[in-house]
Amino acid sequence: MSEQRNVVVIGGGIAGLTSALSVLVDSPIPVSVTVLEASDRVGGLIKTSPFAGLDAVDEAADAFLTRVPWASQLASELGLGAAITSPTGAHANIWHNGMHSIPGDVLMGVPAKMRAFATTSLFSPAGKLRAAIEPLLPTTTDDDSIGHYIRKRFGREIHERLVDPLVGSIYAADTDAFSMAAVPQIAALTASRSALLAAGKTRKAAAKAPASPIFGVPLRGMGALIETLAQRVVSLGGTIITGARVSDIQRNGASYGIASTSGEFTADSIVVASPAKHSAPFLTSVDARASELLASWDHASVALITMAVPAHQWPSHLTGSGYLVPKPDQRWVTAASFGSNKWAHWRPADGSMILRVSLGRDGLDVMHFDDDHLINLALADMKLHLGVDLTPTEIRMSRWQESFPQYRPHHFAKLAEIEHSLSVSAPGLVFAGASYRGIGIPACVQQARLAGESVALHLASLTD
Ligand SMILES: Cc1cc2nc3c(=O)[nH]c(=O)nc-3n(C[C@H](O)[C@H](O)[C@H](O)COP(=O)(O)OP(=O)(O)OC[C@H]3O[C@@H](n4cnc5c(N)ncnc54)[C@H](O)[C@@H]3O)c2cc1C
Repeated sequence: MSEQRNVVVIGGGIAGLTSALSVLVDSPIPVSVTVLEASDRVGGLIKTSPFAGLDAVDEAADAFLTRVPWASQLASELGLGAAITSPTGAHANIWHNGMHSIPGDVLMGVPAKMRAFATTSLFSPAGKLRAAIEPLLPTTTDDDSIGHYIRKRFGREIHERLVDPLVGSIYAADTDAFSMAAVPQIAALTASRSALLAAGKTRKAAAKAPASPIFGVPLRGMGALIETLAQRVVSLGGTIITGARVSDIQRNGASYGIASTSGEFTADSIVVASPAKHSAPFLTSVDARASELLASWDHASVALITMAVPAHQWPSHLTGSGYLVPKPDQRWVTAASFGSNKWAHWRPADGSMILRVSLGRDGLDVMHFDDDHLINLALADMKLHLGVDLTPTEIRMSRWQESFPQYRPHHFAKLAEIEHSLSVSAPGLVFAGASYRGIGIPACVQQARLAGESVALHLASLTD
């Protein structure tokens, strides 16, 4: 019989909780798993709460991608498969001196056909002509900046009004300073001489697959995923301790001593599922260089304001799912989601419209404004964009401080350097989560699964 091993997971967000589940399920030897979470609740950047008479309206993520399997598989494993719902299919817009439908035939904003830009009012005739010569241009050297690449291929307008708003809205990013490798759909296009032709081929191949929803979420919101996941971890024997901020890790031979605000813990293997910047201080003792590199990660902050707008105030022609604002047109609002158009289960009985309005991104900090000021900025921008004065009956502020890790150009080379260094200085310590290999919920789940496998391998090596 092997002796029991201890695994500590640092961070109780989706990545940490899924790592704990994976270790509990996958470990070939007896294992005790403890999740240490700094705050007073699990879920990290995922939070759902009642709003405007509805039981569950998400305060941050409201959907996960279902075209990749990891989040959907986790939901099914947790018994939530039947409760997954999808957006209504209402179309999204770009606001540029008025609303313009986001053209079809694009791949993360990259035109996949000429008609993607030829037939829309979003671009000037000169912008359309510039984009049209893309297939004739020589190969563009990849310097790992999305903005640089797209501007060289298609010109300024396609970058500013299409690709930057779409990619920027997912990562709260400035795509000039964002790694192309971190957005594989765009990175894959650089292998071909023409991005337009390559995007066309990818879209054509995707069109052959059976039609299915692209996004999903449990009917009780993303919080249901966290709640069920935490319950499963505990039912399998795991321990979750909130209010336990890790401050230091010391290596003691083959094991580790972990200091936290909830006391000392020992571990044979550690999953670091806390954001890079927050993880840097407690890694100094085991690896000063890795800690220094992690401390240099940039994170953007976002304020998300949820509003309930009375039905009679809502302009009836606004039937879309919301809109994005390109950077040159931005004052403060970067995007607004018309939640009750996007989700059939977000329709209050009195017919109010649930709006979710985002402010702030990389290069546009809004966290120094107080709540009232942010709400006034949001309402003034909405008046400009929608042409109406909105007087919400209910407002909820969700501040997501340093929530979006920014994958600067050559992010993965930096990460590889850190992981290589830690493989020597701290064997059995692995990363999972948004700071590392993808910020979307599916990517966080995938990293957690891989972390679980690495931990199992490490524990097995200790008993050999
Ligand atoms: C406004 C917003 C909207 C989003 N929308 C979507 C969406 O629609 N779809 C999608 O797929 N993704 C979306 N995302 C991204 C996605 O939700 C996150 O990337 C993901 O939830 C991050 O999970 P994580 O576990 O890696 O990190 P986190 O959720 O940040 O969890 C890390 C945890 O570590 C804890 N911690 C930090 N330091 C310590 C320490 N020293 N000791 C112990 N614990 C510590 C933190 O308190 C936190 O709970 C959105 C994010 C935001 C902010």
